[in-house]
Amino acid sequence: MAESELVQRIERLRALLREHNYRYYVLDDPNVSDAEYDALMRELRHLEATHPELCSPDSPTQRVGAPVTSQFGKVRHPQAMLSLGNAFDEADLHAWRERVLKLLGADTPLAYVVEPKIDGLAISLTYRAGRFELGATRGDGEVGEDVSANLRTVRGIPLLLRTETPDTPIPTSIEVRGEVYMRSADFEALNKRLASSGEKIFANARNSAAGSLRQKDPAITANRPLRFFAYQVGPVEGVELTSQWQTLAYLRDLGFPVNRDARRFDDFAAVLDYCRAWMARRDSLEFEADGIVIKIDDFAQQRELGVVGRDPRWAIAFKFPAREATTRLQAITVNV
Ligand code: NAD
Repeated sequence: MAESELVQRIERLRALLREHNYRYYVLDDPNVSDAEYDALMRELRHLEATHPELCSPDSPTQRVGAPVTSQFGKVRHPQAMLSLGNAFDEADLHAWRERVLKLLGADTPLAYVVEPKIDGLAISLTYRAGRFELGATRGDGEVGEDVSANLRTVRGIPLLLRTETPDTPIPTSIEVRGEVYMRSADFEALNKRLASSGEKIFANARNSAAGSLRQKDPAITANRPLRFFAYQVGPVEGVELTSQWQTLAYLRDLGFPVNRDARRFDDFAAVLDYCRAWMARRDSLEFEADGIVIKIDDFAQQRELGVVGRDPRWAIAFKFPAREATTRLQAITVNV
C-alpha cells in the first residue's frame, strides 16, 4: 500500500471506530455486529503495529470504552479499569501463553482461572466497612460515571456485606468489579414490553443492560431485569488476597454472585478442553456470552506481567467465532 493510501486507510478506520464506539457506548444503539467491529479494530491494530510512526495517542486502539457523558457525576477509578486482549483461535491462545512464559521464565509453573465472558458492561462497586458506597461504569477506563443510585436497584448487588464462614473477615474497604447483564429470556421479554408500549427496542442484551443502567430515573432501572456477576477486585484493605481463585471464593462468601462455571486448571491442555466445551455450550446458555476469559491465577505473577496499552498481559479473552448469517435454501422435490 502506498504511504498516502495507508494514511487514508488508517484515518478512515479511526473515524469508523470512533463512530461505532459512540453508537455502542453512548447511544447503546450499534449499527454493526461485534464481529465487524472487531475486524476493523484488528486491521487498525495491525496497520499501527507495522507502521509505529503512524500511531497516535488519540487512536481508538489506545483507549477503553467511551468517554463519560455529562448526565452523571464523574468518578476517577483508583486503579484503571482495563479491557482484555483477544484471541480468535487456539493458535492465539498458545501465543499468549508463550508470551507469558517468556516474561516469567520458561520453567515457571502456571495455574489458570477460566471464566465465562458475559456480554454486559463492566462496573465497579466500592464498599467501606461492609456498606455499599459508590458504583461506577468503566467509562474510558480512568474515569467512569457515578451510577450508584441505579446500581442500588440491581437485586444481585449486596448493599451490606456479610460472610458465610466465621473466618472470613469483612474488608475495611474493597472495590469489587464485575459485569451488569441481562439474561436472554429477560431481554426478549423486555423488548416485547417496550415494543407493545411503542418504545424503542434494544439491539441486543448487552445494549439493553447498558441502556437500562444509564437511565436518569432509578425507578426505570429498578423495573429492568438487571443482574450482576462479580469477577475481580480493585484496591482492597483489611484482607489479603493472593490469587484469582481465592478472590472468587471470597467474593462468593461476601454475598456476591459469582459465575458457577469458573474453573481453575494447572494444565494448559485442560484449559483448551474447557474452552472447547464452553464453545459448544454457547447456544444453551441463559445469558449472552461472547467468549471465555483465561486469567493467570497468581496475583504476584499478574503484577510481574503487568499491562500493555489497555490490556493486562495476564489475561486474554477467547472470543466466540462470529455467528454466520444463515440462509435456508428450500429443497424442492420434483416428481418425475
Ligand atoms: P471486551 O468486551 O472484548 O473485553 C473486556 C470486558 O470484558 C471487560 O471490561 C468486562 O466488561 C468484560 N468481562 C466479561 N466477563 C469478564 C470476566 N470474567 N473477567 C474480566 N472481564 C470480563 O472489551 P471492551 O473494551 O469491553 O469492548 C470491546 C468490544 O465491544 C469489542 O470487541 C466489540 O466486540 C464490542 N464493541 C462493539 C461495537 C459495535 O458497534 N458493535 C462498538 C464498540 C465495541
